[in-house]
Amino acid sequence: MTIDLHAHSTASDGTESPAELVAAARAAGVTMLAITDHDTTAGWAEAVEAAVRLGVQLVRGIEISCSRDHRSIHLLGYLPDPDDPRLAAELARARDSRVTRMDRIIERMADDGIPVTVEEVRAQVAPGATLGRPHLADALVAKGIVEDRDAAFRDLLHDGSKYYVGHYAPDPATAIALVRDAGGVPVLAHPFAMRTATISDELVEELAAAGLAGLEAHHRDHEPGDVERALRLADRHDLVVTGSSDYHGTGKLNRLGEHTTDPREWSRIVEQSHGVKVVQP
Ligand code: AMP
Ligand code: ZN
Ligand code: FE
Ligand code: FE
Repeated sequence: MTIDLHAHSTASDGTESPAELVAAARAAGVTMLAITDHDTTAGWAEAVEAAVRLGVQLVRGIEISCSRDHRSIHLLGYLPDPDDPRLAAELARARDSRVTRMDRIIERMADDGIPVTVEEVRAQVAPGATLGRPHLADALVAKGIVEDRDAAFRDLLHDGSKYYVGHYAPDPATAIALVRDAGGVPVLAHPFAMRTATISDELVEELAAAGLAGLEAHHRDHEPGDVERALRLADRHDLVVTGSSDYHGTGKLNRLGEHTTDPREWSRIVEQSHGVKVVQP
């Protein structure tokens, strides 16, 4: 059993459709895949159909962009009820805010003589998908302004950039409660990756008390010391330990199945879920 619990499709900033993502997982030898698009469940239906057809077990999930003290924290939610009104409303609010935020980033770039338009960014986004900086990166690549997404983030779009504008994002404790109330299981994504380097031991303790179920310890953006720290904190707070690829298609170097989750850890997640089932082919 090869379990990869974190992957993106064109429903957010992955470069493959949900069906293509499931096919890619199968080709990579992943037997259980979680689709976890940013702030949306829009990719679920197509992924379910493909999973049944292609013989992949599918976990329906999300990755919620959260914020604490102006720092971005990502929370994975596994098997939540997508129709839970409060969760659905919070995700919709975040997606709406991403649209106005993109307008402001584009305005700032225009003021600085970087000519990219809302229409050019829109052309990079699948209908109904969560809009993100990677789509702006794709528009800049299409115009020949930068080489690839990585260069776009490095030179223009990183969090410390003068063009950076944030969007509405819930506090992680709020998001944990929303996922739990929707019957899902919340796991902190790449907690000690550079971009979220502010996650302290105390914050993990606070979030564990607020209902956090696990830590994504094994992830490309973690140094060996980060993995050890995650394992130590998971042990201390009785949290599940996961590992995942955070695959984005050609948008990032991450490859499906490059990090995986132990089946015993997965079963600890499933035990805590209510309602939404893993799709069995
Ligand atoms: P946003 O949610 O719009 O603020 O954009 C952040 C997203 O951009 C993250 O969730 C990553 O998936 C993606 N991202 C961040 N850095 C890079 C990078 N260097 N190359 C490609 N994608 C990136
Ligand atoms: Zn992403
Ligand atoms: Fe993330
Ligand atoms: Fe991700």
